[in-house]
Amino acid sequence: MEPSFSAKNPQTSKFLEPGYSEASMAEIDAALKAAEESFDILRGLQREERARLLDSMADEVMGLGDGLLERAHLETGLPMGRLTMERGRAVNQCRMFADILRDGSWVDARIDQAQPQREPVPKPDIRKMLRPIGPVVVFGASNFPLAISVFGSDTVSAMGAGCPVVVKAHPAHPGTCELLGEAIRRALEKLGLPGGCFSLIHGTGNTVGKALVEHPATQAVAFTGSLKGGRALMDVASKRQNPIPVYAEMGSSNPVFILPGALKDRYEQIAEGFVQSLTLGVGQFCTNPGLVAGLDNSEFGDFREKVASLAREWSPASMLHSGISQNYSSGLSKIAAVSGVEVLGKSEQAPDPSKTEAICQVFSTTIETFLNEAALSEENFGPSSVLLTGKDAESLEKFAESLEGQLTATIHATDDDLTAHRRLIQILERKVGRLIINGYPTGLEVCSAMHHGGPYPAASHSFFTSVGTDSILRFVRPVSYQGFPQSLLPDELKDENPLSIWRTVDNQLTRDPI
Ligand code: NAP
Repeated sequence: MEPSFSAKNPQTSKFLEPGYSEASMAEIDAALKAAEESFDILRGLQREERARLLDSMADEVMGLGDGLLERAHLETGLPMGRLTMERGRAVNQCRMFADILRDGSWVDARIDQAQPQREPVPKPDIRKMLRPIGPVVVFGASNFPLAISVFGSDTVSAMGAGCPVVVKAHPAHPGTCELLGEAIRRALEKLGLPGGCFSLIHGTGNTVGKALVEHPATQAVAFTGSLKGGRALMDVASKRQNPIPVYAEMGSSNPVFILPGALKDRYEQIAEGFVQSLTLGVGQFCTNPGLVAGLDNSEFGDFREKVASLAREWSPASMLHSGISQNYSSGLSKIAAVSGVEVLGKSEQAPDPSKTEAICQVFSTTIETFLNEAALSEENFGPSSVLLTGKDAESLEKFAESLEGQLTATIHATDDDLTAHRRLIQILERKVGRLIINGYPTGLEVCSAMHHGGPYPAASHSFFTSVGTDSILRFVRPVSYQGFPQSLLPDELKDENPLSIWRTVDNQLTRDPI
């Protein structure tokens, strides 16, 4: 096939060799059929074998050495230091899943033993555990080319669960995707596993993505990107004859509340931390703080001034690709056009469009204006934020109440502030996936207590996280086994507990055999 597209270096606006070709419908079909055929083999692996596969994938990615980082740098403009850290995160999260598989308790085994003598009806023996669902289609994110892309949390959690994966490469970093895809293919080959367990598909329009979601073999979809893209894929999935889940993480505005006591104590420190969080990665994080609310007093005025001066000092930097940069610029114009909104501060240095550069820009308005202007609640992906002033505690609560689903909300507060604003916390708890006190929303810890998701439109299913150990739960479903003989039960559910995992037996958590 003739190459039909190439990546573009955002820092030079030059196209990069080689070219890549869009997958044909026959290639999409072949990838998903191969995934379906390899499902039994992948799900049938012993836990140690599947853990070894993940470890081997991590080794192969590390084995790509600096070549991977250099290609990712050329395609995304992200600095080498950031990419080195991101590779560390990706490799560590893969090894974390290998450890979870070795431990084995993640399958949430439950056993309710039979009570044949129970009156008026005997109770049957029922046992339940989580089982993999089948081929998963993954849409990688443009802003995490290593940790939420081909070898990201979606792929490793799905394969860890026992599901074959077909990845739709992000068209902005196809070369990085190819390198990562080869590493995964090598790991499969070394362990003698079928190539159908993992495939990489390229495409630049919506056609390829749509066909992947529509394919009858696809059982679930994982997506990180825009609300428009995520919603379109949810709609495609729900129109299938057998609708399937789309686990979409679609970003949010991540409101920050700065309460009076905290401002009095440390407004400068909060302003510095806030601008660092706002401009980290050129604002291209789904956890970027796009809205800030405080009360109308002199301390919030000082805070706003400090933020404005830091924004003025911030030097423009390259965004990931021209599409994101154009969306960001038009978002800035849209906010500036709202009556009652003023520009509080923006980078004094002009951006260089040939380097796909973005400025930092902060706006100021009242909560009242925000409540009447839908345009202000839309996420503007990049280093920009709107600072909102409210009259009193009630207006902060009204603002919180007006918010759509968010990934995070942050509160800067003293203990007294928290006591005085209990209601605000109660409201925010209904709106977000993660509440942060005296911290910043960017910098996402990969751990078992992390919930990276939230009510729609932050995510498609508020129950599920796309980062952290629980992300594996997106790719499994519970199966109950009633009246099964020991010989037919999975090892996890056998009386003697041969894998020595934690199980809930007759409502007691235990590792003991029965
Ligand atoms: P995107 O436009 O949502 O694209 C993400 C992936 O989904 C790409 O592979 C894209 O491929 C595919 N896709 C998008 N719309 C589709 C559709 N209707 N049907 C089928 N496939 C579709 O995200 P992006 O390119 O990374 O950035 C664009 C905007 O997304 C940003 O400006 C920002 O607002 C937002 N974003 C959010 C996050 C987040 O963390 N939630 C991360 C990055 C970006 P094709 O283009 O080939 O179809």
